[in-house]
Amino acid sequence: MLYRENRKNGQLLSQLAFGCMRLPRRGGGFDAETARNLLEHAIDQGVNYFDTAWMYPGNEVLVGKLLKPHRAQINIATKLPISLVKRASDFDKYFQQSLEHLQTEYIDYYLLHMLTSFDAYRRFVDMGLLEWAEREKERGRIRNFGFSFHGGPGQFKRIIDDYDWDFCMIQYNYLDTERQAGTAGLLHAVDKGMPVMVMEPLRGGKLAKVPPAAQQVFDAVVPGRTPAEWGLRWVWNHPEALTVLSGMSTIDQLNANLQLASEAQAGALAADELRAIAEARAVIAEGIRVPCTGCEYCLPCPQGVLIPTAFSYYNGDGIKGSKPDRLLYLAYMGAFPSKPGFASQCTACGACVRHCPQNIDIPRELESVTRELERFWSKPAARIAKRFMKGE
Ligand code: SF4
Ligand code: SF4
Repeated sequence: MLYRENRKNGQLLSQLAFGCMRLPRRGGGFDAETARNLLEHAIDQGVNYFDTAWMYPGNEVLVGKLLKPHRAQINIATKLPISLVKRASDFDKYFQQSLEHLQTEYIDYYLLHMLTSFDAYRRFVDMGLLEWAEREKERGRIRNFGFSFHGGPGQFKRIIDDYDWDFCMIQYNYLDTERQAGTAGLLHAVDKGMPVMVMEPLRGGKLAKVPPAAQQVFDAVVPGRTPAEWGLRWVWNHPEALTVLSGMSTIDQLNANLQLASEAQAGALAADELRAIAEARAVIAEGIRVPCTGCEYCLPCPQGVLIPTAFSYYNGDGIKGSKPDRLLYLAYMGAFPSKPGFASQCTACGACVRHCPQNIDIPRELESVTRELERFWSKPAARIAKRFMKGE
């Protein structure tokens, strides 16, 4: 196992982190015995960072039970379900529950789960989030405080610049260099001395299977290397990535990742390998319908349309032939934001268009988004989901 140093606290973290969300399941629950074998084998082989979340049903309880005998030698990361936080006392409530689920007195890396915008983050700050986190750090119950992020690069930079975070976690892979926090966000965070954990190095498994034309590009440079290996090697090639989460559910996946994590050094990819990834990326990304980079120069829209978010879900995973997810669109455009920002709210005023560096005909593309992703039930369903989340 290769280790990388967290320059903020001097700790050495295994460059492969275990994402526990995908621990194996059987019937309606977890396959606890296989999960135990996986986690123990990972620990034996040097993995020392394990990620879970309050929001993953039953996961903290299982992980807490299985990791308890190894607690002193590993780091546990878990996350505050911010979408459920309605008042200041909820910070304590969910944190305490995580401690109990995980059978531990402290959390090594505690994250706000899935920040997407600066405004959403400030809402929690106004509730006293940062004072609460500082108190828990003084009490020793939180050792490192950070957030996981799924918005655009502009929002990411604002959140990073607003507070002296201990770390953050971003989605990063060779398709997302200009989406989500992107390369610019990664470099900005690291410039500020902030450790960055990487999640979704294979885009939730999408980069583990690539179109034949992309595989041919790969095979011409290193025959026999799997797409997953290309994807992981690409992320580890970045010295800025402190540790890379992989959600593993089988012993074969784990062993393949352990082998890679013992040899994939930062900066090790040769020029022809990097060229192959760029070429394969172009093949894979032919499915991207709107070339939006998520820069947010077009915001705010007077009608409240969440323009880059709409394009992000319209593009789906950006892989040719894949279908965008209507439910994800509904959640991120209507249920999660403080105000809905559906594409159909666009009145075609044109105010955004001159700000777009990609020269996207935004109103026209938003019409396509509406046609494909909205239905008569989208807005009422988002309202109901929002009320449910508020506990009304
Ligand atoms: S054209 Fe549509 S998306 Fe753009 S600013 Fe006007 S209402 Fe908003
Ligand atoms: S539509 Fe254009 S301006 Fe708006 S986020 Fe996308 S690329 Fe940036």
